[in-house]
Amino acid sequence: MMVNMKRLALLLAAVSLCHAAGKLNVVGATQDLASIAEEVGGDRITVDSIAKGYQDPHFVEPKPSFLLKLQKADVLLTVGLQLEIGWLPPLITQSGNSKIQVGNAGYLDLSQFSQILEVPTVQVTRAMGDVHPLGNPHYWLDPENGRRMAKAMDEKFSELRPADKAYFAQREADFDKRLTEAEKRWDAEMAPFKGRKVITYHRSWPNFCERFGLQVVDYVEPKPGIPPTPSHTLDVINTMKRDNIKLVMVEPYFDLRTPNSIAQATGANVVILMPSVGGVKEITDYFKLFDYDINLLVSSFNKVK
Ligand SMILES: [Zn+2]
Repeated sequence: MMVNMKRLALLLAAVSLCHAAGKLNVVGATQDLASIAEEVGGDRITVDSIAKGYQDPHFVEPKPSFLLKLQKADVLLTVGLQLEIGWLPPLITQSGNSKIQVGNAGYLDLSQFSQILEVPTVQVTRAMGDVHPLGNPHYWLDPENGRRMAKAMDEKFSELRPADKAYFAQREADFDKRLTEAEKRWDAEMAPFKGRKVITYHRSWPNFCERFGLQVVDYVEPKPGIPPTPSHTLDVINTMKRDNIKLVMVEPYFDLRTPNSIAQATGANVVILMPSVGGVKEITDYFKLFDYDINLLVSSFNKVK
């Protein structure tokens, strides 16, 4: 009797261990990736992320806790296009986790499934700026790319957990449907401002602006990753005066001195938009990211008329 009870207990422990191992452990390099993974993976995966949404994703300070996350990961989702080149590659190597090494089954670079803008057609040199050598890596800011990323994650998760294939497919289809509904709302909200010209600090918004009909005329940064210079700032001010541009979009991690002085010289509005999930507390998922930014843009456009 005693022996049988022991056996039963062991059996139950083994069963629950199997279940724990069954959950795919997914780590997103950014919170945007983690959010879409959650949509697709539901309760069959555990999700964590590395860079916080309020950090500049090009420049993240590595921490020991990142290594722990990577050591346990079955899948690592990356933005790619060298967005994370300054901090992620050494962490991947140091994790010693063979699953998530570049080229292995647990490494998924979502840029390969997305529509990428600003892909250089000429040889890239340092003079062109530092941080976007392979095309613009801020592509998740177009919901259509969110949709493509979800599909890629669906396929990857199903490949690694074939038993949950139908579950992932259903979740992906549901995400797609809710995204389509949300896009109708976002389009309607942005429709009155189609063709508006804007200035952005960094080149974070080409996909967003193309999708929602805004025209980016110039940038506060002279080149991607290069801080503002007095002569370039003067050019931006002159362009804004000439074209009557009244909006400067700034990411939350940049110094506001130059945008504010530009606004002062031109009568424009500075609006701090969030490029990522987690940028502020209320942006808890991919839908709320667009809700937040579009809401803020609409009220800013209405202010400046
Ligand atoms: Zn960038």
